[in-house]
Amino acid sequence: MPNKAHQPAQKILILGGTAEARELAERLVAEGHKVTTSLAGRTIDPLLPSGDVRIGGFGGAEGLAAYLLEGGFDRMIDATHPFARRISENAIKAAVLSGVPLEQRLRPRWQKQPGDRWKPVATVKAAAETLPPGSTAFLALGRQYLDAFVERADCRFVVRMVDPPATPLAFFDHTLVLGKPANDPDREADLLSAHGITHLVCRNSGGPAGYAKIIAARRLALPVIMIERD
Ligand code: NAP
Repeated sequence: MPNKAHQPAQKILILGGTAEARELAERLVAEGHKVTTSLAGRTIDPLLPSGDVRIGGFGGAEGLAAYLLEGGFDRMIDATHPFARRISENAIKAAVLSGVPLEQRLRPRWQKQPGDRWKPVATVKAAAETLPPGSTAFLALGRQYLDAFVERADCRFVVRMVDPPATPLAFFDHTLVLGKPANDPDREADLLSAHGITHLVCRNSGGPAGYAKIIAARRLALPVIMIERD
C-alpha cells in the first residue's frame, strides 16, 4: 500500500537510543511506514519513539539478522550513538547475513569553534591522565567510562548521570549530579560555575543534544578534554 509520500509503505527497523532516532521514527511513522525502534535497554525510563519499540540486545549480528528475517523487515537504519560501535558493526554484518539493506545515519562530530579550549585525546585513559593535579573535573560521561578516573585521588570529580549508579562510585572525592544535560547553555554554565569546575571532560558525540555544555565551557573559557572518535 502506498504511504503518504506516495511510496510503498515499508517495514523498517531503526536501531535507536538517540534523539535523532526518535525524530526519524516520528517522521517515518507519519509517512505511513511500519516502524520498529530497537533500544538497548540501558536507560531505566527511556523516552519512547513513535511506532513499535523492542528493548534489549539481539544476541550479536546473527541474532539481529534472524530478527530482521523473522520480522520481514524491508530495511534497517542505524541511528545509534556514534560511540556505540559494537551495534553498528553488528548492523553491517547482519545486513550481509540477512540481505536486508542498511542505511547509516550517524551524526557528524562537533568542530572546534573560536574560543574553544579543547585538548583532544584518543582514549578515556588519556583523558584521565591529562587532568592536572588539583583540578575539579566535570565528567559528562556514561557509567562505563568512569573507572579510568578513579585513581586520580588528587582531583575532585562532578559526575552527571541520567540514572543513579547501581553501585556506589569509587572516587576519592566526587559529587553526583542526576539528570539529563540541559539544552540551555546558560543553565549548563551555571552548573559548571556552581561546582567550581576547572575542566570539562566529554566525548565528541556530535549533534545538538549535548552541545550546550560545549557552548557553556566556551563562554567560561574552560578547558575541555575532548575524547575523539577514531
Ligand atoms: P554498543 O557497545 O555498541 O553495543 C553493545 C551491545 O548492546 C550490542 O552488541 C547489542 O547487544 C546491544 N545494543 C546496543 N544498541 C542496541 C540497540 N539500539 N538495540 C538493541 N541492542 C542494542 O552500545 P552502547 O555504547 O552500550 O550503547 C547502547 C545504546 O545506547 C545504543 O543504542 C546507543 O544508541 C545508545 N546510546 C549510547 C551512548 C554511548 O555513549 N555509547 C550515548 C547515548 C545513547 P547484542 O550484541 O546482544 O545485540
